[in-house]
Amino acid sequence: MGMPSVFLRLATCNLSCTWCDTKYTWDWQNFDYQTEVVELETSEIQQKIQAFDCSHVVITGGEPLLQQAELTHLVESLVAEGYTFEVETNGTIAPLPGMLGRIGQWNVSPKLRTSGNPSVKSHVPSTIEAFTRLTEAYFKFVITGESDVEEVCALCDWYKLTPSRVLLMPEGRTPDELQGKSEWLSGECVKHGFRFTTRLHILLWGDKRGR
Ligand code: SF4
Repeated sequence: MGMPSVFLRLATCNLSCTWCDTKYTWDWQNFDYQTEVVELETSEIQQKIQAFDCSHVVITGGEPLLQQAELTHLVESLVAEGYTFEVETNGTIAPLPGMLGRIGQWNVSPKLRTSGNPSVKSHVPSTIEAFTRLTEAYFKFVITGESDVEEVCALCDWYKLTPSRVLLMPEGRTPDELQGKSEWLSGECVKHGFRFTTRLHILLWGDKRGR
């Protein structure tokens, strides 16, 4: 957290979390695709990234691994120039071999029952297992309440996840919402040995897009 980064936000998602704060990337009943999405060739994205004085890139979405075949070429090319990458993913799609080894950190965020997704869609055991085998993968859970913490504990037991690889983040789109859950959640993290994270951009800029 706090590292200067270029964010590459990709459209479309294979889930539909009720509290999603980037519905403009996939909810075409409430957002206009033509307004929200810019379709670019890989070479154009590469040029836009290179225009920033920053060599760390966070690829997010939506669910970015839906487009990982195209991403592989971009990542390969920029890694050769010295760029480093993180990928934020919902943990339902396994990374292709071309991505493995080139991504410095996987921020895997499996969605819990309170996200409102059918578990058959949001919980893909083979993919979670694949990520548990990557030492550069961390598991970040969005926490709305107590039942989420219980579910995370059960998942950690099932997948034998060490608590130091698990981060709990309060759900919230305003500083007040985050603050309201943070004291309780940080206590839960201490109790279970998990790491606590917050949403720095919300604390700094609220829910303003493009920051
Ligand atoms: S997985 Fe992420 S982008 Fe997709 S609906 Fe859930 S929160 Fe939104």
